[in-house]
Amino acid sequence: MKPFDYVRPATVSEAVAAAAQPGAVYLAAGTNLLDLMKGNISRPDRLVDVTHLEGLDRIERLADGGVRIGALVSNADLAHDPDFAKSYPAVAEALLSGASAQLRNAATVGGNLLQRTRCAYFYDTASRCNKREAGSGCDVREGENRGHAVLGWSESCIATHPSDFCVPLVALDAIVEIEGRNGGREIALDELHRLPGDTPERESALEPGDLIVAVRLPPTARDFAAHARYLKVRERTSYAFAIVSAAAALRIENGKIAEARLALGGVAAKPWRARAAEEVLRNVAPTAEAFQEAAWRALTDAKPSGDNAFKIELARRIVVRALTLAAAGTPARLPALPASPFAAIPGAIHA
Ligand SMILES: Cc1cc2nc3c(=O)[nH]c(=O)nc-3n(C[C@H](O)[C@H](O)[C@H](O)COP(=O)(O)OP(=O)(O)OC[C@H]3O[C@@H](n4cnc5c(N)ncnc54)[C@H](O)[C@@H]3O)c2cc1C
Repeated sequence: MKPFDYVRPATVSEAVAAAAQPGAVYLAAGTNLLDLMKGNISRPDRLVDVTHLEGLDRIERLADGGVRIGALVSNADLAHDPDFAKSYPAVAEALLSGASAQLRNAATVGGNLLQRTRCAYFYDTASRCNKREAGSGCDVREGENRGHAVLGWSESCIATHPSDFCVPLVALDAIVEIEGRNGGREIALDELHRLPGDTPERESALEPGDLIVAVRLPPTARDFAAHARYLKVRERTSYAFAIVSAAAALRIENGKIAEARLALGGVAAKPWRARAAEEVLRNVAPTAEAFQEAAWRALTDAKPSGDNAFKIELARRIVVRALTLAAAGTPARLPALPASPFAAIPGAIHA
């Protein structure tokens, strides 16, 4: 492993100053970053350990009805917070469908958002990868590519973003709070991750030194609690990234869908908000036909990037199933899904 500096600042402003120099990266729980460093895939000059920053490990209910989640809250603590799980069940379900219990105990909100792709060619330093080394080429098109992107990809990169958590977050209009060299700012989560284009090495809208301090869900996100689900399809029941996933959230009034939210995971370099499909569902009854139409619209622009044409049909089916489950109502206790948050929270009622 390449030698590097290690600093542990005490405040956010010290952290931002320490991370502003080229080659510096933030270290949270390290469950992704340290693996990449051990594999010589990431070669930072400086680690800025943010795990001791004060105040970033809180879940705060806001006066406007929203919630603010500090960047250092662990994935497990967030998913198991009874009020959070009750108000944002699809987010809790997504968090607990990710990784393993041990990893979720360590992994942080900020780190989950910024985890790197799981493309095997990115991880294999003997392969060409435009994301790892700008302009070097990409070996995946002629390689093992059945898990790769079907939406928003480019000739230079077909990798996907692996986070489960981000999928319901983008559906619920999450906002990312950032502290940088020029002070604080916020952006929609939908704008945090970039599509590859000609510069797949630039994965996010963050500038050098930018620290994610929190993620906020607006007051409207709670309105979907009664009809929200996250559905993840993977190659084995635990400890695997999504082949395709979907977050579906409905606000149903008088037998009609007043508002729908839909996002897909495992299909693109970013969590994919399906806005056109949401429009199809506005002001209609929650029927199988409406869900089929929405699924079709969600994947209209999809095209295979290799051996992955099956993902397009799979994604359509997952969308229909997630919408159907959401329409049926968030169950008080989910059936025996792996890592169901509902089974783990005694007495939590979600209906
Ligand atoms: C075996 C295994 C299985 C997994 N399965 C899943 C899965 O099914 N679903 C899923 O979603 N995830 C999965 N993960 C990924 C896991 O969720 C991530 O490794 C974890 O969320 C990263 O969080 P961390 O705190 O360890 O981040 P770190 O590894 O410390 O950091 C990750 C990146 O984020 C940056 N960073 C961290 N915090 C901040 C911040 N506050 N501001 C700016 N930059 C920051 C770091 O510089 C680094 O680039 C799996 C991981 C493993 C090892």
